[in-house]
Amino acid sequence: MSIEIAGVGKHFGDFVALDDINLTIPSGQLTALLGPSGGGKSTLLRIIAGLESADSGTVTIEGVDATGLPPQRRNVGFVFQHYAVFKHMTVAKNVAFGLEIRKRPKQEVRRRVDELLDLVHLRQFADRLPSQLSGGQRQRMALARALAVEPKVLLLDEPFGALDAKVRKELREWLRRLHDEVHVTTVFVTHDQEEALEVADTIVVLNEGRIEQIGSPDELYDAPANHFVMSFLGEVS
Ligand code: ADP
Ligand code: MG
Repeated sequence: MSIEIAGVGKHFGDFVALDDINLTIPSGQLTALLGPSGGGKSTLLRIIAGLESADSGTVTIEGVDATGLPPQRRNVGFVFQHYAVFKHMTVAKNVAFGLEIRKRPKQEVRRRVDELLDLVHLRQFADRLPSQLSGGQRQRMALARALAVEPKVLLLDEPFGALDAKVRKELREWLRRLHDEVHVTTVFVTHDQEEALEVADTIVVLNEGRIEQIGSPDELYDAPANHFVMSFLGEVS
């Protein structure tokens, strides 16, 4: 099982944002889509999520042809850079939201929310409002919320990009630990080489709508496929 992307292309007017992408994202791993700004990372993630349709090609998620399916039927959870939080709801309510709109029994919702808040160490903040959390805590809440409905796939677009370096580093470690606990297939977009090298099992380097290389951090580091990968990995942000 995996996410299979076959022959995916996307253009905006004359501009080719994705050029015939063929890619297998392994199940249960943490995969980074890494590359410079404008490379097509977010577009590819949005196509996997079903938030954007491709011009050509297919997306298969864990054995199910998802091409043409709306986001809510793809079994994916998202976390984006800009906190998509409900400001008027408590932390617990934010995490419960996806379960409540699915009409899950109250008792089950309560149990699951407690479990998730424990997972991201926010149990003591359950009754606070998001505005009373730090930026890092808010993103941990967003992670818990995305995981609430037990998605098969977790998609993150520069989830820590807006935060300062220290918090970003902390959240990376969180993401890694969380992933090691729940093993959900995770794809996260970053332009930060260090972040990808430190966190990901597999890195997909995307540049100008094409895949430059796919490999483990070690493979990319030891044997960059070309000059682009070598110089991009060499840049420290
Ligand atoms: P990345 O996330 O790697 O920075 P994106 O996938 O956001 O790159 O964008 C790839 C390219 O496609 C960029 O040049 C961007 O300007 C362009 N693009 C993305 N979305 C649109 C859109 N809705 N309309 C026009 N151009 C777009
Ligand atoms: Mg982007």
